[in-house]
Parts: sequence; C-alpha cells; structure tokens
Amino acid sequence: MIDHMFGKITLSIIKPDAVQKGYVSPILYKIVHAGFHIIAIKITELSKKSATKFYAEHKKKLFFESLVKFMSSGPIVSVILKKENAVKDFRILIGETNPVHAKKGTIRNLYATSLEKNAIHGSDSNQNAIKECLFYFSNREIFF
Ligand code: UDP
Repeated sequence: MIDHMFGKITLSIIKPDAVQKGYVSPILYKIVHAGFHIIAIKITELSKKSATKFYAEHKKKLFFESLVKFMSSGPIVSVILKKENAVKDFRILIGETNPVHAKKGTIRNLYATSLEKNAIHGSDSNQNAIKECLFYFSNREIFF
C-alpha cells in the first residue's frame, strides 16, 4: 500500500509543452541529480475528462478551460518520486508557478514556456501527493 509513504513521495508530471520540446531527459536528469528516486514512471495522454478531474480544484478559475485543453493536447510523463520531504523539496526544485518569478536554475525557470505551459507539475501537499499518485498509477506499477 502507498499510505505508508506519506511524507516521502510526490507526483510529478512533465507537461505536454516540455515533452514536445524534447525536455524529458534533461528534466529527469535534474530531478535524479537533486536526490529524488523514481519509483514509478509512464508516458501517457490525458483525455479532456481526465484532465478536468485532475484539476477539479481549479474548476471555477478563468484559466481552467484553457488548462484542460493544454494538458490533454499531447503526451505527458507522469512520475512518482521518493525522498524525505519530497513535496516541499520538489516544489523548491521546480520553482514558482509563474516562470517569470521562478528562481534561476529551477526547472520552470529553465524549461517553461508561459504561466500555463510551465513544463512541470509537483503535488502541493502530502495528502494530495498520495491522491495524485493513485490517479496515475496502480499499486502494481509502484516500486518502493
Ligand atoms: N495556471 C494557469 N494560469 C494561472 C495559474 C495557473 O494557466 O493563472 C496553470 C499552470 O499550468 C499551473 C496549473 O494551472 O501549473 C495549476 O495551478 P496551481 O495554482 O495549482 O499551480 P502549481 O501548483 O502547478 O504551481
């Protein structure tokens, strides 16, 4: 079961913009180099329905429709990462949501295109991390 990993895992998605531009390899290199262990990985594509479900918390936001369209526009790479303080440390590694404000050397600073097409996702809480990991992966696909 995944529950015993609370606090030690986070869910990341390399978004369609970064996959399309060929950034999967440099992004994964940077993540592993920062001390995260890949315990599940897949290349997949979200339907509009799945993207709507995944971003349900933003349903009322003005950017929602465009975000759903973008996230279902091409392949993504979803990854479960293991590390102590995974959620917090990963948010630091990827940088601010808006790449204009992302610190130099962060993944969004290096690889994002825009506020919407910001290259990468990272869970925002330990609880959401578990939920999001189970959104993309079955227990059989996760290697602790
Ligand atoms: N987003 C957007 N416009 C905004 C804010 C966010 O298009 O004004 C997109 C962006 O791709 C972001 C995602 O919606 O990564 C989810 O937003 P959230 O505030 O949860 O940011 P995150 O947790 O991804 O940094």
